[in-house]
Amino acid sequence: MPIHSSRMPAIFIPHGAGPCFFMDWNPADAWTRMADFLKGLSLTLPQRPSAIVLVSAHWLAPTFSVTGATGPTLIYDYAGFPPHTYTLDYPAPGRPALAQRITALLKQAQLPAQVDPVRGFDHGVFIPLKLVFPDADIPVVQLSLCSDLDPQAHLQAGLALAALRDEGILIVGSGMSFHNMRGYGDPRFGPISDEFDRWLTSAVEAAPEARWQALCNWAQAPSARLSHPPGAEEHLLPLMLVAGAATGDRGQRVFSDRVLETTLSAFRFG
Ligand code: ZN
Repeated sequence: MPIHSSRMPAIFIPHGAGPCFFMDWNPADAWTRMADFLKGLSLTLPQRPSAIVLVSAHWLAPTFSVTGATGPTLIYDYAGFPPHTYTLDYPAPGRPALAQRITALLKQAQLPAQVDPVRGFDHGVFIPLKLVFPDADIPVVQLSLCSDLDPQAHLQAGLALAALRDEGILIVGSGMSFHNMRGYGDPRFGPISDEFDRWLTSAVEAAPEARWQALCNWAQAPSARLSHPPGAEEHLLPLMLVAGAATGDRGQRVFSDRVLETTLSAFRFG
C-alpha cells in the first residue's frame, strides 16, 4: 500500500458564471461539459471526503477567514438571473471544530486568521458543490481569500493546511482559470486565454519547487493580465492555495474546455 493511499487530492475547479448550470443559456450547451466534469469528480476520489474545505473567489477578507456556523445559510451573490435561481438550496452542514483547526494551522504559519461565526456559503461554494456532491451531506467549511491577493501568502496558506488532506479532507479551490469579463464571448480572447492556459498548465505541471516559484510570479506570464485584469485576479487565487496544499505532489490539468470563446481549465494535485 502506498503511504498516502488515503491522502485526498487538492483540486482547483471552475465554477461557471452565476447559477449557469441551473438555467437556460445561449448557446444551450455552453456549460454542459464543465457540468459533466463536476458531476464526475467524486468518482475520481480515493474515498468519500470526511469534510470539504473550499476557498471561493467570492469571499475576500482582510485576513483569512473561515465559516464557523453549524448550518451556514446561502448567499445569492449574483444579479439579474431567473427567479428560481434564488431558491436553489444546498443544506450542507458546517463543521465549527474544523473551522477552529484551520485558523490554528494558519496562525501557526504566521498567517492571521479568524472564524466568522455567521457568514454563509456564497455561490462559488454551493453552485459547483450541487454538481459535485448533490446530496449536501458532507460538512463544508468555506475559507476566504486574503484581500491583498498576494500569491505567495495563498501558497503558504495552502501549505499550512496540507496535513488536512491526510485526514480525508478534500481541499477545493473554486474560481476560474480565465476571468476577464470583457473577454467572454469575444473571439479575440480565444488565443489570449489559450496562451495563458498553456503557461498555467506548464506551471502547475512543473516540479513542486519550480511550480511554487512560477505561481508566485504568475502576473508576468504571457497574457496574464488580459486573462486576470490588475486587482481582479480573485478567480485565479484559489489555485494558489490549492497548489500550496499540494506539497510534493505533482499537478495536472484534468479538464479544459472552450466556453464563451475562452479556454477554462481545472487542475488537480495528488
Ligand atoms: Zn465567480
